[in-house]
Amino acid sequence: MRVGLGTDRHRLEPGLPLVIGGHQLPEAPVGCVAHSDGDVLLHALTDALLGAIAAGDIGELFPDTDPRWAGAASELFVKEALRLAREAGWTLANLDATVHLQHVKLRDHKAAIRSSLARLTGLDQGAVGLKAKTGESVGPVGRGEAIDALVVVLLTRSEP
Ligand code: MG
Repeated sequence: MRVGLGTDRHRLEPGLPLVIGGHQLPEAPVGCVAHSDGDVLLHALTDALLGAIAAGDIGELFPDTDPRWAGAASELFVKEALRLAREAGWTLANLDATVHLQHVKLRDHKAAIRSSLARLTGLDQGAVGLKAKTGESVGPVGRGEAIDALVVVLLTRSEP
C-alpha cells in the first residue's frame, strides 16, 4: 500500500469562478486567482497521487509558466496523475479531503463535489470522504482571503 498527502491554497477574489472538486459553485461571491481553473481540491488530490508514487509535484508536471495550462480544467492534472499511478502499478483505493473556506457554506454542495470526485477518480462514493471547515475567522482563510484543501489518498497494488 501507499499513502499520499496533498495540500493547496489559492487566493480568493470577487468575480472569479469558484470550482471545488470539479464542481462549480454558481452563486459563490468569490473565486480563485489561478493560472488554471484554480480548483484547490483537485490540485491537492493531484499532489496526493503524485506523492504516493514519489513522482514529484503538480508544479513540476504542469508549470504555471506554461501557456498550455492557462485556464486548464484541473481534471486534466488528476487524470494524468492517475495515469502515472496506474502505469506504476497502483490503484486508488480511497481519498479523504478537507476544504477550509470561511464565507461560502459548502454544506449544500458536498454531495455534488463528492459525486464529481467519484466520477473523476472511478471510486465509489463510499470511498470519497469530504469535510468542510471554516477558518475560525482567523488567518488568511478566516479573513476570507484564501481557500485551503488537504487530501490524503491510499493506493493499493494493482492485480498483476
Ligand atoms: Mg493550486
